[in-house]
Order: sequence, then structure tokens, then C-alpha cells
Amino acid sequence: MSDPHERRRAALRTALRDRGLDALLIGDLRNLRYLTGFTGSNGALLVHADGDDRTVFCTDGRYKEQAAKQVRGLEHLIERASALALAARAATAGLRAIGFESQHVTVDGLDTLTAAAAGVDLVRAAHLVETLRLVKDDTEVEALRQACAIADSALAELIADGGLRPGRTERDVALDLDRRMLAHGAVAPAFDTIVATGPNSAIPHHQPTDAVLRTGDFVKLDFGAQLHGYHSDMTRTLALGDPADWQQEIYDLVAAAQSAGTTALTPGTEVRAVDAAARQVIEDAGRGEQFVHGLGHGVGLQIHEAPSLAKTGEGRLSAGMAVTVEPGVYVSGLGGVRIEDTLVVRDAQPELLTQTTKQLMVV
Ligand code: ZN
Ligand code: ZN
Repeated sequence: MSDPHERRRAALRTALRDRGLDALLIGDLRNLRYLTGFTGSNGALLVHADGDDRTVFCTDGRYKEQAAKQVRGLEHLIERASALALAARAATAGLRAIGFESQHVTVDGLDTLTAAAAGVDLVRAAHLVETLRLVKDDTEVEALRQACAIADSALAELIADGGLRPGRTERDVALDLDRRMLAHGAVAPAFDTIVATGPNSAIPHHQPTDAVLRTGDFVKLDFGAQLHGYHSDMTRTLALGDPADWQQEIYDLVAAAQSAGTTALTPGTEVRAVDAAARQVIEDAGRGEQFVHGLGHGVGLQIHEAPSLAKTGEGRLSAGMAVTVEPGVYVSGLGGVRIEDTLVVRDAQPELLTQTTKQLMVV
């Protein structure tokens, strides 16, 4: 079984049998992509517990040819209302209990689904695929590796070409960075690129404006590339001109916290303990109040996915999880620093995917 999608469907079937479900109806497009490789904007999948022989994929006419190439080894149905068509199929096939992704179905959607699946017991089965997605397989890690390498290359090139010179605006820099990621093969930026200079760097999720980069500023860049559906996520904060003492101090502090968080990334560790390891470093320096967000998040087919490395996070790390470690210290009105890597949890030490230096870069 060399096809990763086939392997993932086999893993999902184990979860279905454990729950006594005949099948699971997948309507979420990311989960659909994970299980089939389909990249269109409309489709659904009825994963049968017995095997791929009885599993049915559905999309509409626009994607018929694309689906024939992307989705192999499954029966294809062509219907606009794909999930409803599969629910009706489950009813005519005499299935007793089918699970549905209750976290993705609206209240109204459940009404129409129930009507379509007359006689079938619809069972809430949230997060079954998301649970599988927590631990990345080799195909996924390779996509993440490549997406991170694109971001590394784009930033290195931006700096080498003098793209972070005083006088440019945040928007100029954001467009430049995006263009370079696309030129290096990204399908799209992973999310809206953040460029925040001077006092704006103290705003964690600042949106780029016409503010001009000035000597003496911190400039904070949070960006990533999307490739094969996977997202990279990296933040670097640079100094424009020689850093002042306060800048060096908070930079070193955030770098120490980031290192502590990374060291804590080991299989079996509670996610909240990873957050605590980094947070403690910042609290010990008396700046706990200035670290206003969680330490990190899972990353994969979504830019933010489970697990959440935060005070309120639940669960433990496992080998193969892809996460960010991104502490920050934000001094309102003055400036802030965030340093973020994307990493994969491994048995020995985590695999670092974003490889741009974490030494304070002065441009
Ligand atoms: Zn980020
Ligand atoms: Zn992030």
C-alpha cells in the first residue's frame, strides 16, 4: 500500500470499526484532500468501514476530469450536492449507522442530510480525520519541509537584495516577500504576510500598512508558503541598524524562551508544559504580561490546527506532530519581538524545518 491516501483511509476505517459505524461521510475539503488527494472546491466522500471497494467519492461536473486523475481506486459519482448524494447512496445501500463530521455541519445542513439519508442513523463523529492528521506521515513532512525551505529562500533573497532598507513601506516589503515565495514555487502565501515595523512590531498580528521602515526600528516578518496544501510558518524580527540596549535585551529574552520551548518538544510531554517552559523564561525576566498569546500551534493542511501549545492546550505531544514555537515580547508603543519556527516532534530531538538563523540579524 504505497499510496498515502489509501493508507490514511485504512487508518480511518479502524476508527470507524471501533465506533461501530458502517461508514463516515466526509464533507470538509481539507479532510477530503487528506483522504483522496482531491484539490477541487466541491466534493464529498463516503468512507465505508469494509474497504475502498465500497467507498464512494463524489464531486460535480466541473471536476470530473481532475478527479479522475487525482482520486484513484474509488467509485466516482458526479452530483452537485455531493454530500447529500452520498447520504442518499448510504440509504439505498442499506447502511445502518453512518458518522458525519458534526464539527463542520451546520444546523440547517443536518436537516437536509437527515432528509437525504432516510432510514439511516446519522451519528455525530467529530474530529476522526483531524485526529489522524495530528501525526504527519512522510509525504506530509516532506511537503512541510519544502514549504519551509521556500520561506527560508525568500527571506534570504529579500535581505541579500536590500529589500529591508529604510524608506520602504510595510506593504512594499510584504508584496516583495510574497512575490519571492511564489517565484520559489509556493502555490500561495500560507496566510496574509505580516510586516510590522517600529512601534507596529509590538502588535502581534499587525496588518501591513504604508508605515515606512526607519533606522532604529525592529521589523517583524511573519510569513509562510503553501505547497501541496501544506503551510509553513516562520517569524523573524530584524533590527534596522545597530540595536539599542532595550532591543538586544528583549531579543535575547525571546530567543532564550524560544530555545526553551523547542527543548521541551519531546514525545509524551503535555502541550501546556511546552508553553510553560518558554513562558517561564519570560516571566522570570518580569515580562510575562508582555507575552500575550500561546506558544504555538499545529501546522499542516491548515495554518492553525491541533495541537494548541498554550496554557489551555489539551493532550500530549507525539512523534510526527508538526508544530510552531513562537514566543513573543511586545512593548506597547516601542516595539516587539517574535521568533517562530516550524518543527516536527521526533524521538530524539525535534526536526527544525525553518532554518533561517535566530541570531539577531542587523540590516
Ligand atoms: Zn507565524
Ligand atoms: Zn504561527
